[in-house]
Order: sequence, then structure tokens, then C-alpha cells
Amino acid sequence: MTNGKLTLEQLYRQGRKTLAQSPSIGEDAGFEALLLFQKVFHLSREELLLQGNHLPSPAQEQEYAALLEKRLAGEPLQYLLGEWEFFGYPFAVGPGVLIPRPETELLVELVLEHLSGTTAPKVLDLCSGTGCIPITIAMEHPDAVCVGVELSEEALPYFRRNLELNHCDRVTIIPGDVLHLPAHPELTGPFHVVTSNPPYIARKELSQLQKEVLREPQMALDGGDDGLLFYRRLPEIAFSLLAPGGLLAMEIGEDQGDAVAALTRQAGFQQVKVHQDPAGHDRVVTGLFLV
Ligand code: GLN
Repeated sequence: MTNGKLTLEQLYRQGRKTLAQSPSIGEDAGFEALLLFQKVFHLSREELLLQGNHLPSPAQEQEYAALLEKRLAGEPLQYLLGEWEFFGYPFAVGPGVLIPRPETELLVELVLEHLSGTTAPKVLDLCSGTGCIPITIAMEHPDAVCVGVELSEEALPYFRRNLELNHCDRVTIIPGDVLHLPAHPELTGPFHVVTSNPPYIARKELSQLQKEVLREPQMALDGGDDGLLFYRRLPEIAFSLLAPGGLLAMEIGEDQGDAVAALTRQAGFQQVKVHQDPAGHDRVVTGLFLV
């Protein structure tokens, strides 16, 4: 150490200590401080160990301090990093779009299982956000062709960017409102699968969400008075667009299994099932369109 300045190693440790003060970060402080540190300094953990006694440039030190400050103020880690992984693929994220959640991977797994062995299946994803569902299906299935519908002008640029980021050319983006689907040749079906992770938080619960989630777009979270607004329409829409034998797969809130399963049956779906995520919470409802 020279001139009383902090070395890289000391700066990282200080960042960890700073983040640990926040109750919502707590035990993740080391992990988060390292990811933010790596974003600024482009050092692996090993390089940090080897070059730990080097001094940072003042500009980098300031950039790191600014990221820590924003994180403490409640900005989601993922927004600060600008990219987050889903199913092993990178997704551009930032203010204006919902961050892909690990529990949504269950929905993708169920769809891939259903489509295994199907040649060139057509998949429709409604309320796409970052596009993580249709893009992952297209990346994981050898020749699936997907269409994603998204209304938010703020989310659409992330969706487009994520196609480029994953060199994905089998997903078509259609801007539009899922509840009033636009007339579009790509939306006529029939589809083998319809997927959706719609907004599903009950409006009165929105204000009680973690401060990080409150930084995410309300439009991606607000499921109307009881959180079920979209589930009253999605099964009907899917029923009219699916091919016989087709699957509807929707992500749900953990207390919505019974209600969403009932709405799905009412629309005419059969073999309706509620699936649990790895934490044991009800997370996905599926139903089959059988003739
Ligand atoms: N899973 C998100 C949350 O709990 C909600 C996403 C959604 O409404 N689709 O914050």
C-alpha cells in the first residue's frame, strides 16, 4: 500500500463490508461485491488474488463506489451488471424489464420435455419481457420456431438485444397487447405450445414487495386486483391458437395454483397440472388441448 490508498484487495473487502450492512443483501454481500468489482476491474477471482496489492485507477475506484451506492439504495444487482444468466444463456437486463428468475426455468423444462421429438414445433410466448422463455426454447430445441408478444416499449429493446446476444434467429418479436392480440400473420397458429409468465402480483401486495422488486416495471408485476387478471384470458386465447395435443404452460404465484388450474379447466383444457419449483412452491400450471 502506498500513499494511504486502498489496494484492489482492500477495496473489494471494503465493498463487501459496505453491502453487508443492507438487510436485503446480507449473506450475499461477498458474491455481490465480487460481481460488481469484476464489472469494473475485469479481474477473475484468481487475478484479484494475484494482483490484490495493485492500486486501482481513481476513475475505476469511483465507478465501483458509485455501483455500491446504487446497490445499497435498492437498485437490483442484475440491473447494475446489465446482464443476467437464465438457463445458462446471457440476457441483457436493466430498468424497464423484468429480471429473469431461476424458478421460470421450470416452465422451460416442462415445455422442452413436451416438445422432445417434435420436428419444427411452433411456440407462442405471451408477455415476453426479456424474451428469456422463447429464446431459451429456441436455443435448446434443435428447430423450434418461436413468436414472442410484448407490449412494453421499454422492454422491447431488451428482447431485441437478447436475440443478438444469443445469435438466435428462430424467434419473431411482435409488439402488442396480449389481452387484445393484434391481427398478425405470425399469430394465426396453430401452435404446439403457448407459454406465458404474465404479471401476477395482486395490486394491493405490490407495495409490500422487496425494494429491489419495486425497481422493476410495475407493468410486469401488476396482475390486477386479485393477481389473476391475465389467467382469466390466457387459457381462452391459447385454446383458440393451439393444435390438438398442444400444451399451455403458465407461470403462477405460489398461492395461485388452485385458482389458475380451475380457470384453465374452465377454458376446456385437460390433464391440468400444478407443478412445484425446486423450493417446493406451486410455480407452473400446464394443460393439454385434446380433441
Ligand atoms: N416472480 C416475480 C416476483 O415474485 C413476479 C413475476 C410476475 O409477476 N410474473 O417478483
